Amino acid sequence: VGCWDHVGPAPKDPINGVTEAFLADPSPSKINLGVGAYRDDKGRPVVLQCVREAEAKIAGSVFLESLSAVVNSKMIEESVKLVYGNDSDVVKEGRFAGVQALSGTGACRLFAEFQRRFHPESHIYFPDPTWSNHHNIWRDAQIRERTYHYYHHDSKGLNFAALIDDIKNAPHGSFFLLHPCAHNPTGADPTEEQWREISYQFKVKNHFPFFDMAYQGFASGDLDKDAQAIRIFLEDKHLIGCAQSYAKNMGLYGHRVGCLSILCSDSKQGAAIRSQLQQIARAMYGSPPVHGVLLVSTILSDSDLKSLWVDELKDMADRIRTMRTTLRENIEKLGSPLCWEHITNQLGMFCFSGLSPDQVDRLAREFHIYMTRDGRISMAGVTTGNVNYVANAIHEVAS
Ligand code: PLP
Repeated sequence: VGCWDHVGPAPKDPINGVTEAFLADPSPSKINLGVGAYRDDKGRPVVLQCVREAEAKIAGSVFLESLSAVVNSKMIEESVKLVYGNDSDVVKEGRFAGVQALSGTGACRLFAEFQRRFHPESHIYFPDPTWSNHHNIWRDAQIRERTYHYYHHDSKGLNFAALIDDIKNAPHGSFFLLHPCAHNPTGADPTEEQWREISYQFKVKNHFPFFDMAYQGFASGDLDKDAQAIRIFLEDKHLIGCAQSYAKNMGLYGHRVGCLSILCSDSKQGAAIRSQLQQIARAMYGSPPVHGVLLVSTILSDSDLKSLWVDELKDMADRIRTMRTTLRENIEKLGSPLCWEHITNQLGMFCFSGLSPDQVDRLAREFHIYMTRDGRISMAGVTTGNVNYVANAIHEVAS
């Protein structure tokens, strides 16, 4: 018998499965609404101008050895300022442990591994539903998962009352994963008032909030506004963890640049936790690639490039918001008797349409439109050119 005879194929990833089905469809009118990466109004992937200019600036840098600690710590310092605020005391006083991570996924994985090392009996609470890879990441780190109520199927928005009940009923000191903005897949975010209540209840129960920030800037078009949830938790003096990704908001998906930070009671604890995180990373993949981090640190530490980025980010968020409005209007114009308000109420990259798995299958079969079977539409795939067609198809299958 062969060494690997007992190995069967892994279950298909729901998101990669959509891309495969899309690629296999020969129809010229096919549309991929599965991808989670930004596309322009022609459906093309985008390289931001700030990234092009940063590329030009760093051309000729020597990459053969790992990056100087200076560049790396600059990227981390600028990253934590993005989430905790430019003037935040925790950053100024060094009361955090920050490390570079392999994009948002790597930051989550690193945290999960850290959680297992120092709280091996703990659980992680996920919103129901959540990004499908969260389940895999914490499972592979051998942390058991629980879920908390999040989405309300009838309103296609947040089920706030049930969410608060679950926070209250979880054992003291539980670990919770929160999406600070642009919740994936539902696009439903708590309001400012609701975040205040969530933060308060976390304080009462001494829960640990872990924020997975994969879309900062994509919900409102404004980096600070999208960090509002985290700022509220900061005001309430929570020690939080945060995974950041530059895949979407800088369009650096292929470069895998991210940051994991954990707030600490003082800088001594920060140094201890940082050394533990670095040790975990070293055993998993050594050190991350250097090109992307150089791009990010160049953009964030140059005021012209940074403001160019802020403008480009706003343009991306605006395009998505415009497509939400147009999609909703077009479906309504067709005389749909159903309510489509949620398309414009939801925020960020995704619209949780409420379409059933059967309706999603019909969209693929009859209209060559592809999305995950939970009915999640990537709004980035909707363009001026295809929005009519998409509206019509949705109306056909939904009525
Ligand atoms: N977290 C959430 C909620 C996401 O939606 C994603 C990407 O889809 C990620 C994390 C990880 O993204 P990446 O590893 O590409 O930065």
